[in-house]
Amino acid sequence: MSDYDAIVVGAGHNGLTAATILQRGGLRTVCLEANHYAGGMAASVELVEGFHFEIAGSVQFPTPGTIREDLGLDTLPTVEPDVMSTNITDSGPPLIFYRDPMRLMTHLGEAHGNEALMGMAAMFAWAQAPARALGRFDVRQAPRSYDEMYACATTEQERQAITDMLFGSVTDVIDRHLPDRDKHASLRAMLSFLAVNTTYRGPATPGSAAGLAYGLASPPDGMPMMTKFAGGVGAVPAHLGRMFTENGGELRLRTRVRAILAADGRISGVRLEDGSTITAPIVVSNLSPDVTLTELVDPSILPADLVARVSRVDHRGAYLQMHFALDGRPEFAAPYELLNEPGMQQSIGLFSTTEQLQQQWEDCRHGIVPPDPSIALQIPSDGDAGLAPPGKHAASAFALWFPVQGRHGDYASRRTEMARRVIAKITRYAPGFESLIIRNTTFAPMNMERMFGAPGGDFCQGLLHPDQIGTNRPGPRGFADLPIPLEGLYLCGAGCHGGPAISFIPGYNAGYQALEDAGRRG
Ligand SMILES: Cc1cc2nc3c(=O)[nH]c(=O)nc-3n(C[C@H](O)[C@H](O)[C@H](O)COP(=O)(O)OP(=O)(O)OC[C@H]3O[C@@H](n4cnc5c(N)ncnc54)[C@H](O)[C@@H]3O)c2cc1C
Repeated sequence: MSDYDAIVVGAGHNGLTAATILQRGGLRTVCLEANHYAGGMAASVELVEGFHFEIAGSVQFPTPGTIREDLGLDTLPTVEPDVMSTNITDSGPPLIFYRDPMRLMTHLGEAHGNEALMGMAAMFAWAQAPARALGRFDVRQAPRSYDEMYACATTEQERQAITDMLFGSVTDVIDRHLPDRDKHASLRAMLSFLAVNTTYRGPATPGSAAGLAYGLASPPDGMPMMTKFAGGVGAVPAHLGRMFTENGGELRLRTRVRAILAADGRISGVRLEDGSTITAPIVVSNLSPDVTLTELVDPSILPADLVARVSRVDHRGAYLQMHFALDGRPEFAAPYELLNEPGMQQSIGLFSTTEQLQQQWEDCRHGIVPPDPSIALQIPSDGDAGLAPPGKHAASAFALWFPVQGRHGDYASRRTEMARRVIAKITRYAPGFESLIIRNTTFAPMNMERMFGAPGGDFCQGLLHPDQIGTNRPGPRGFADLPIPLEGLYLCGAGCHGGPAISFIPGYNAGYQALEDAGRRG
């Protein structure tokens, strides 16, 4: 008899989702996590004593209602500021993203003009058909082929939108709806940043519009575009971990899997770092499909075509993530004093224009650190005081583009240089910022790779390029036309259809697929 009925490798939010479903479905499940904490890239970590940081992912974008209900996600307390984010560029008025759609529309009309209001509405409308084609909110459905994506269009306009998503750029779409580079600068900049951070493409590069469709997709049930959890995003893995263990599942931290074992076309278990083995007829991997199939499974027992396909995945995530323990609340200078009002510092975009972002991406390809990086700055302790000691604040900054390739200096010096420029930029807007820093830490993609095993530190486990979506993204059992020929092996990471991001979909799909194949009902 096997040690367990199922093993889940990795306790990211997707691994925990799959593990919970398997255990609840009656399979004795163990979830093995290399780190000393669960949650992977959706974890909160006390990096500095008393300061709690969302180490990577922080915002829950819309998640299908079926999954929220099944996993009890809507029971988790949230932080709901009136302003979800304030987005600034050096030209044009700030874009204030009010939670209330009526207030947002009023702000757009008054501060940015009616053309901006209509343009934003057109952008959201544009995203609907591509989002259907992508299957953005599909649960337990196979990804679509390109022909099936086009079949999602009900009008010529929708067909054009799907063509944009597959072959076009962000600027193709925003130039159509928000053409004024000055008056619409902050809207264009926010949309460009939202789109390209899941790609290795500038906003003017063909193929970048897929990220825009993914980022703008709004769910059918009216869930807000952004949800922040009280206590930080780590509340999610804590909740899933509780559900898993209260149902009898076993979560083992500090347990690195070195190999997934198979014999005679069937999975037999895993081998750990210490050389010991754990047996089970089902293994679900939260790691990226390429790591799973080329490093954990012996690739020589897999078809060469499958190994070749997953080995080609583009992982050039080009970002920098910084965390700051601050001695107080930053003070923003004129004309951005509105950011000094209570709660207004929870999410601030300090963006380059769309055109600058394109230039910075082109420079980054040659190893050049952007002089003035685009930054998504979050100070969640501004709305959730428990995240930092009294009077102090925990801030995080996510910035583009960190040059992951090119010949200008070594990796470490580029990281140091970009971190310096991130601090300088924030300090330009909030002059006391640098002097408030008690401690800070900087993670480049290589650091993320070391922490979470994601190749290239790519948090998508396969960037959102048009050639890495649809049927080119695997499902739980591999690609529709090239399935994994090992019985009992399932993929559940962000690199699968339904990912990337904190979407829960790959974990959900894999958990139920494995249960169904085992003849169980969830
Ligand atoms: C800086 C940054 C900001 C982001 N912001 C957002 C955001 O705001 N909203 C959003 O939706 N998404 C965001 N993302 C993306 C999101 O965090 C990820 O796509 C998502 O968390 C991936 O989840 P996962 O469960 O598939 O994989 P992971 O979270 O990577 O989980 C994989 C787990 O496997 C473990 N592991 C690895 N190797 C082994 C091994 N050999 N044995 C055992 N365990 C192993 C890892 O430690 C990890 O816990 C962000 C990512 C980054 C890096």
